[in-house]
Amino acid sequence: MDMERYAEANNVPILEKESIEFINKYIQLNDVKSVLEIGSAIGYSAIMMAKDKADLEITTIEKDEKRYKEAIKNIKTCGLDERINVVFNDALEVSLAGYKFDLIFIDAAKGQYIKYFDKFKYYLSDRGVIITDNLKFHGLVENKDRIESKNVQGIVNKIEQYIEYLKDNDEYVTKFYDIGDGLSVTYKANNGKIEGIN
Ligand code: MG
Repeated sequence: MDMERYAEANNVPILEKESIEFINKYIQLNDVKSVLEIGSAIGYSAIMMAKDKADLEITTIEKDEKRYKEAIKNIKTCGLDERINVVFNDALEVSLAGYKFDLIFIDAAKGQYIKYFDKFKYYLSDRGVIITDNLKFHGLVENKDRIESKNVQGIVNKIEQYIEYLKDNDEYVTKFYDIGDGLSVTYKANNGKIEGIN
C-alpha cells in the first residue's frame, strides 16, 4: 500500500498489523459505532478501522500540519471522508463537548498520555474503552539502560508513569497486551465483562 511506503520513507510511525487486527476485532465484537483517535499521523489507522466496518464513524485529531494534510489526502483517496473527520489541532486544545465515543484510541505524543487520558475519559460512552498504543515504545520501556538520549529517557519515564497511573486507577480497569508496540485497553470498573478483552 502507498501509505505504508510513505510512512517508511518519511519516518512516520504507523500502527502495526497485529495491533490493527486486535483493534478491529474489538470493534466488530462490541459493535463499536464511534471512534475518537488522538494522533492521526497520515490517517492509516483510521482508514484501516473505517474500512473494516461500514457504519463506523471516526473523529481523529492531528496537530502536525504536514501529517494532517497527508491524512486528509489519503482519507479522500480511500473515499472515507464522509466517515472520518480529521481535526487539525492539539488534542489538548480541542473541545468535543456533547460527544461520546465507544472507543478512544490514544496514539499521539507519548509524553502527554496521562493528560490525554484525564481529558478524554469524559468522552467515553457507557460501554466505551480507551485503547493506548506504544506502551513499550519500540522496546525501550523494558531496556531503559540502553537509552542514551535524555529526551527519549524522558518519554520512556512518562510512559512508565502512565502505566502505573492506569494500574493504580480504581475507577478504571486496564488490561495490557504484548501486541505490536504494546497496547492497553481501559474500561470503567463498573462495566464488567467486555467482549474480546477478558
Ligand atoms: Mg503508535
